[in-house]
Amino acid sequence: MHVAVLGTGIMGAGMTRSLLRAGHDVRVWNRTAARAQPLADDGATVAGTPAGAVEGAEVVLVMLWDTPAVLDVLGSAAGAAPDAVWLQGSTIGADGMREVAVARPDLRLVDAPVLGTKGPAEQGTLVALLSGAPADVAAAQPAIDGYSARSVYAGERLGAASALKLACNAWVATMNAAVGQSIALAEGLGLDPALFLEATRGGASDTPYLHMKAELIAKGEFPPSFTLAGAFKDVELIRAAARAVSVADDVLAGLVAAYGRAVAAGHGEQDMAAVYRAFPPG
Ligand code: NAP
Repeated sequence: MHVAVLGTGIMGAGMTRSLLRAGHDVRVWNRTAARAQPLADDGATVAGTPAGAVEGAEVVLVMLWDTPAVLDVLGSAAGAAPDAVWLQGSTIGADGMREVAVARPDLRLVDAPVLGTKGPAEQGTLVALLSGAPADVAAAQPAIDGYSARSVYAGERLGAASALKLACNAWVATMNAAVGQSIALAEGLGLDPALFLEATRGGASDTPYLHMKAELIAKGEFPPSFTLAGAFKDVELIRAAARAVSVADDVLAGLVAAYGRAVAAGHGEQDMAAVYRAFPPG
């Protein structure tokens, strides 16, 4: 298929490479051109404008930071591919997705956030969360299959897939903060944090995620799979969504405080595991 990717950050770049490996013809655009340019070596065509990227595309994948970025880029690109299916993959929440749908009733929009991070994006093994018109989802499925191992269809309502994404990210953001909290707690209480990993190993509460994030903390190096700034953006979105439907937000309030504190301390561009820095022992 002719696929356009708007936004070649951590996720968009990995998804582009997966789409290329799957045999699609991919044209990309990124606000900071230097970040898109290396994709030419992988076989993508790098366009100078969003409109140039989407011209002639059957599917457009939008992988940007937040709702204002999505609205801005759609505003300058939509006219160039009125018949394409537009996969909105950025994490913008159900409210953000509805805002986009209201602003662009002219487009065949599919709500299409993803689960998984840099590695699965590069490997084409993300989980695609989808909602929208079944015919539009079906038309875009070959492209979706290029970057994902499986799809979960949440219904026709635009915003349903983004709502599901928030529930999933609440889980991940909680686990990630809990890893940092328990390691800092072990250290604060005078223990080697390796004892915490040893004690939980193989039990019902053990998870590969714990070991992945604990390893980054042990090394004190946080190359980003998902940035702390991104996790902070998401916990704020999740907390607002919880409040809007009167779901108690006590835990989310703690997450917003912890992620916000680590971002304010200057760790925003590190991996989200650096939320550990919000729990300094002593
Ligand atoms: P990223 O590496 O920071 O990339 C963000 C992208 O958005 C870049 O292409 C950036 O362009 C672009 N952008 C930001 N503001 C813009 C604006 N005002 N106008 C035009 N372009 C703008 O982030 P990412 O990790 O790829 O995440 C992208 C989206 O996927 C986010 O919504 C994130 O929450 C979501 N997500 C991330 C992960 C993950 O694990 N990383 C997983 C699932 C979903 P520049 O390069 O010019 O800054």
